[in-house]
Amino acid sequence: MLVLGIESSCDETGVALYDTDAGLVAHHLHTQMAMHAEYGGVVPELASRDHIRRVVPLARACLADAGRSLADLSAIAFTEGPGLGGALLVGASVANSLAFGLGIPVIGVHHLEGHLLSPLLATPRPAFPFVALLVSGGHTQLMAVRGIGDYEILGETLDDAAGEAFDKTAKLLGLDYPGGPTLSRLAMRGDPARFTLPRPMLNSPDLDMSFSGLKTAVLTLVKSLEADGQPMDDATRDAVCRAFQEAIVDVLVKKSLKALKQTGMKRLVVAGGVGANLQLRAALDDAAKRRRFEVFYPPIALCTDNGAMIAFAGAMRLAHARAPGGYTVKPRWDLSSLPAL
Ligand code: ATP
Ligand code: MG
Ligand code: FE
Repeated sequence: MLVLGIESSCDETGVALYDTDAGLVAHHLHTQMAMHAEYGGVVPELASRDHIRRVVPLARACLADAGRSLADLSAIAFTEGPGLGGALLVGASVANSLAFGLGIPVIGVHHLEGHLLSPLLATPRPAFPFVALLVSGGHTQLMAVRGIGDYEILGETLDDAAGEAFDKTAKLLGLDYPGGPTLSRLAMRGDPARFTLPRPMLNSPDLDMSFSGLKTAVLTLVKSLEADGQPMDDATRDAVCRAFQEAIVDVLVKKSLKALKQTGMKRLVVAGGVGANLQLRAALDDAAKRRRFEVFYPPIALCTDNGAMIAFAGAMRLAHARAPGGYTVKPRWDLSSLPAL
């Protein structure tokens, strides 16, 4: 079975082909980051319009790469939510009209289920059950995952998501949009011994987290450096980035260990854009060796939004395929409301 997947929930147009026998056979992505950079954030109307321009050429490129034609498709998966309404509607419209024309079914995929299952696109592939650390631009959650659609939230951020904290902190340090990946690059060369920032809720008895105070702590640190007449030279800025990243990574690692202990599970799966963070990966790999658990990640390129995770999640949910037409999108959609497979 060959599934075409379309992702258009925010500022990335992603299209991919997943074959239930051969695996991922093609994926293409267009990121709108440069377009939105001028405005310092995603402009929803511009995002929708750009998805319209990109989705068909990307789908053609996937079919060409894989040497397949539209007639080979068994179903079309698209991101049904959550995300920007107008942006989601583009993927939903293309998927439904194309499927209608081809006489094949559609599968509405939950964007976070896409992220959550993306580590299954890597080898070795984690077996169920596992603890999932979902760390993206809009979400930071620890989940007990016992199967597809069997997701129990164990804890989550009470305010900013980890990726959001990276982006907002980068902005206040004057880094270009989108700053998260840049901040993490600078952090890698920053002196880890120079500054220490607080670890919010590190020792709270639950698995919840909080990252908005960290951003404020960075602001306070920068202001106190200014007040002391210390120049914000590159080395200082990089050390601030490092202190920020150390604090976030420390919280994510400790809470993940706590979740493993609480559930008695032996596998940890990381998903979402912050899962591309090399310091987080190194810290988790190190903890896994010491504590004897296994840790799994998506391929780096599939951590942030992409079509491959949507095609894959769609292929896993072929049983829930439906006839195209009469579609809506779900800008807000609770992951725990998904049916188990
Ligand atoms: P959601 O999936 O929750 O709706 P999203 O789709 O915007 O949100 P993702 O695409 O999963 O989120 O990830 C984007 C986020 O990942 C951004 O906040 C970005 O700063 C962050 N990110 C990407 N690479 C890195 C990195 N190397 N280190 C830290 N953060 C990173
Ligand atoms: Mg994005
Ligand atoms: Fe995402």
